[in-house]
Amino acid sequence: MSIRTDIDLLLSQLGCPVSKGGLPVHTPIDGSQIGSVTTATSQDIDTALSRGQGAFLTWRTVPAPRRGELVRRFGNALREHKLDLGRLVTIECGKTISESEGEVQEMIDICDFAVGLSRQLHGLTIASERPGHRMMEQWHPLGAVLIISAFNFPVAVWAWNAALALVCGNSIIWKPSEKTPLTALAVQALLDRVLADFNDAPEGLSQVVIGARDIGATLVADPRIALVSATGSTAMGRAVGQVAAGRFAKTILELGGNNAAIVSDKANLDLALRGVLFSAVGTSGQRCTSLRRLFVHEAIYDGFVEKLKTAAASISVGDPLDSGNLAGPLIDEDAFDRMQAALNEAEAMGAQIHGSERIKRSGAYVRPAIVEMAEHKGPCLRETFAPILYVFRYSKLEDAIALQNSVGAGLSSSIFSLDLRECELFLSASGSDCGIANVNIGTSGAEIGGAFGGEKETGGGRESGSDAWKAYMRRATNTINYSNDLPLAQGVRFDI
Ligand code: NAD
Repeated sequence: MSIRTDIDLLLSQLGCPVSKGGLPVHTPIDGSQIGSVTTATSQDIDTALSRGQGAFLTWRTVPAPRRGELVRRFGNALREHKLDLGRLVTIECGKTISESEGEVQEMIDICDFAVGLSRQLHGLTIASERPGHRMMEQWHPLGAVLIISAFNFPVAVWAWNAALALVCGNSIIWKPSEKTPLTALAVQALLDRVLADFNDAPEGLSQVVIGARDIGATLVADPRIALVSATGSTAMGRAVGQVAAGRFAKTILELGGNNAAIVSDKANLDLALRGVLFSAVGTSGQRCTSLRRLFVHEAIYDGFVEKLKTAAASISVGDPLDSGNLAGPLIDEDAFDRMQAALNEAEAMGAQIHGSERIKRSGAYVRPAIVEMAEHKGPCLRETFAPILYVFRYSKLEDAIALQNSVGAGLSSSIFSLDLRECELFLSASGSDCGIANVNIGTSGAEIGGAFGGEKETGGGRESGSDAWKAYMRRATNTINYSNDLPLAQGVRFDI
């Protein structure tokens, strides 16, 4: 079956009408066009914003556990369609079938988490300093939430936001990546079917607005959006963050990473090798948490890096629909060009490059590059969204940690060591400065139970588990006086 027929079938199985419009959609599998979608007009955007705001006013009054019931039903719809949606993700963004099904599983997991959360949107009761008074916090729904997503996690990142935003009583508007609009339309079609049977859901509770960055920018600037949750490059976050700050909108910014791992001479090296390899080459280096820099202790450097080069060269790169392959293509030719530019820069600095050969077939297929660097400079200081792993030698752990922390991004990090003191130092206030710091696992592949996000140029937002839900609500502090007096706080006198 051709990819084009495959995609039409998948879309119809997911209940998504095959749309036709002016924005072409390509598959990275062979670069061919697999469809086209219609970009939103300014009238469409205005309508979506008004509907979203109207839906919020109703949805916020629906009891949270009932809102959770909607998310529970949606999670079940995802369970039913996991394989079809997974295949669609692979065709549209090029990650392997196993990774795509994992991505849909992540959507299911966050729905389960959100259902439980819908009965746990707790505030605190606080002791008042005044007699006959009580203080408490309440968490209230916020408004319409704009979710801007990147191509590399075309559905899971939306689900992290959508499941929480919905149980928190908000309406949602999704501006997916212009490179992956079909998965967004398919997910919305699934949710629409669930919504159609759900009495309490208002019109316009969840909407998709298709288009490129200009459409995203228009949505970000609109005061009808209460929270902008944007996932993508640091350049995007810098632009979005400034516009949102200009109108005091809340933001969750999930931006680029330049993630590092340290392999100590006291590590289980077999385990470290597998952890490093998966993080560096999984999704062809196109995860925000992909491992990009590796610090290896000098005592084990030669042996470890030799094994790493051999293992990286043995990775099967090819059609991501073939479950025998561990890595698929880059998203497009531009991504390949950026990879080559970074490698050329490293080579000019005297780096030794292993791998990185282009594979001869349609689509941007490339072998992972292991790049041995003499100095921590140049292209390794920035994120290149491709399978490049820069490798460095270290002798003192404190120096490796300092170099790890010396880049702009602060998303994910890990140490491989069986030495308790090394691990605890890495996790301490003097250790990794990232939002994610792991021990004896790689930098990528987070679970939904923890709060996900990073520091510095990664934007500082947190999504998914733990108490990330609080960003989707507004906090009200209430002081209640049940006495007949009016004592003022801090003993202030105002006698009349
Ligand atoms: P991108 O920044 O090119 O685009 C991401 C999204 O932002 C797209 O929907 C795009 O249309 C939109 N956009 C771009 N500029 C905008 C603007 N000025 N105003 C409004 N919207 C705008 O990113 P990409 O190439 O799709 O994805 C790769 C990047 O995303 C990498 O940097 C990766 O690290 C990052 N990412 C981060 C996370 C995270 O959780 N931290 C997760 C996935 C991807």
